[in-house]
Amino acid sequence: MEVSNLLTVLRAPARVQAKSRPDRSDQLSARVRRRLVTSLYSQPSSLAIGALATFSAAIVSAWIANLPQLYVAAVVLLLIAVARVTAALGLSPDSEGNSTATLELVYEIGAFSYALVLGCTAAYTILIGTQTQVEVLMVANALGYGIGVTARNAGRLTIAIGQLCLTCLPIALACFLTGSLGFIALGITILLLIPAMISIASNIFKVLRDSIAAAETSKKLADKMQVLARTDVVTGLANRAGLNHAMVETMMAVDNDSRLALIWIDLDRFKEVNDLLGHPIGDRVLSEVAKRLSGVSPEGGTVARFGGDEFIVFCPIDDRKDSEKLASEIHAEIMRPFRIDGERLEVRASLGVALLPDHGDDADTLMQSADLALYHAKVGGRAQTCFFDSSMTRDLVRRREIEGELRAALQRDELSIFFQPILDLETGRIKTFEALVRWFHPVKGELRPDEFIPVAEETGVIVTLGNWITAQAARVAASWPEDVTIAVNLSPLQIRAPGAALGIKNALREAGLDPRRLELEVTESLFVEDNHSTAAFIDELSEIGVRFALDDFGTGYSSLGYINKYPFSKIKVDRSFVSGAQVGRKSDAIIRAVAEMGTTLGMDIVAEGLETIEQVQAVKDAGCNLGQGYYFSRAVPDYLAAMLLAQERDSTSKEATG
Ligand code: C2E
Ligand code: CA
Ligand code: CA
Repeated sequence: MEVSNLLTVLRAPARVQAKSRPDRSDQLSARVRRRLVTSLYSQPSSLAIGALATFSAAIVSAWIANLPQLYVAAVVLLLIAVARVTAALGLSPDSEGNSTATLELVYEIGAFSYALVLGCTAAYTILIGTQTQVEVLMVANALGYGIGVTARNAGRLTIAIGQLCLTCLPIALACFLTGSLGFIALGITILLLIPAMISIASNIFKVLRDSIAAAETSKKLADKMQVLARTDVVTGLANRAGLNHAMVETMMAVDNDSRLALIWIDLDRFKEVNDLLGHPIGDRVLSEVAKRLSGVSPEGGTVARFGGDEFIVFCPIDDRKDSEKLASEIHAEIMRPFRIDGERLEVRASLGVALLPDHGDDADTLMQSADLALYHAKVGGRAQTCFFDSSMTRDLVRRREIEGELRAALQRDELSIFFQPILDLETGRIKTFEALVRWFHPVKGELRPDEFIPVAEETGVIVTLGNWITAQAARVAASWPEDVTIAVNLSPLQIRAPGAALGIKNALREAGLDPRRLELEVTESLFVEDNHSTAAFIDELSEIGVRFALDDFGTGYSSLGYINKYPFSKIKVDRSFVSGAQVGRKSDAIIRAVAEMGTTLGMDIVAEGLETIEQVQAVKDAGCNLGQGYYFSRAVPDYLAAMLLAQERDSTSKEATG
């Protein structure tokens, strides 16, 4: 696929050339001819110097011979010379407005008339037989001019030969007409001179023509290579180099107050298409995406493929609304199912958009902004569009800092585990503590897990961090009464890492904690990419008694299929249903339905985020049997958790004895 595409790209210009070869060679020779004609007009000063020399010779001859006819000839020569220099200066051969034929004709008229007048003047001095010095002066001048100009104008052979003949033939004719031996010999010499000069001029002409043609050809080849270097072989779109070039060109071409949009498109999970269906299919999907993007991209825009599964559309727009419309068109185009070899394929994409001049006034800044926006689109759940926002830069700086410090923080003991109780709403007793990680940064202060857990996931530190958290939590829990369990949050990445189950088992063994006292909280996002390793992980740990809780229920994809498929012992209803903005009859009904389902299936239902007594009462009425939230307690350090338990046991024993 890739090879055949490469061949298509390589062949494409060649095909065009083959189809229209006659035109092309005509075009080439037209350009060569233009260059040659242009060379006639180069250095009008040489024309002026030559004219001055012949004019002075004619004036001197006229004065010596005292012949008014020679004065007339001198003046005519001067007038022609002035007209020619004026024409050379006035007609700009570089401007396309003057056709090659016009330039050539103007030059021809001047050159031929000058040569003819000069040749005839010299011939006249021989015919009337004036002083020898006058004859020598005029003949030498005319022959010198004829020979010199033949070499100079070899670029246009007809002009060169014409000028040579028009100066030499009248002189040769005059020589023969005198009938004297010396002049006849001179006439013969001049006649022999003509073919010799023609041969020299035509050699010069050939060399000139060939070297101009060669230069043209190599320029063409260089242009073609440049086009190839800027083209992506798989899709035929511009590649990175092509995009850079097009961006510079576009930015230079538009007015200062016009706007441009840079839309960075990343196909979601394209790696899976490649892995499952193979690269040839992957390449065809990319080509199809390229075609669709080119279809929606506005006129004057550039569509480029930017490595792997990323594309860029760079185009002029009227306003932000315009770019929003374009982004949603791109989304719709990519989401339209593909049909490849009869297979139906669905592809989704995340888009990051940056506008010029709003989000950057040069290509680099614009790219960075769009890249950041794309990043936000991807972490915000994929298959969406994000426009650049200046807060993204601040976020990025902070993320980078966190990224750089997280590993060291683990070693420097800056992280610790806090424990938040989960209570039985009926008895008010603590059933479980949820382990929540805290980072006490020496400069930034306390960092919330929401800020650094995603960074840990991205950088892969989550595996080490997660194992450390489980081990710490298990060790603390081992000191609690037997009936109190510990809940640990696991991120999907941690579960998919090789040896994940083993890490948990080791933590339990080292802490000496009964696996039945460990509960792992997972979110629905784990099941979006349902794969084998998730099932194996859950099976392996359930077998030894570890329990699983479904966290943040109701916020994600909420398919009930996996509740049935996996052995969950607990569902945690997300706090947005309890204390969120949309709390009301609807959320109440949802909690009720979930609680009912939980009771039927024998699962515990936890209401998260309980902050007031009213909320506690409401979720209890709705059927939740467990509760967690600031109303009961915030997450506290281990010694306070132990104190909470001790107090509780104290009061129950007092109750029992009292
Ligand atoms: P989560 O698993 O839903 O944890 C509950 C979060 O809600 C905690 O925030 C807790 O402090 C907060 N919370 C508890 N009661 C209330 C309340 O009454 N009102 C309000 N407004 N909030 C309440 P925290 O500790 O900031 O953790 C945030 C999230 O970070 C957690 O959400 C969890 O997804 C993640 N996380 C925390 N610790 C870990 C960990 O050790 N490993 C992993 N993988 N993720 C963790
Ligand atoms: Ca949790
Ligand atoms: Ca939760």
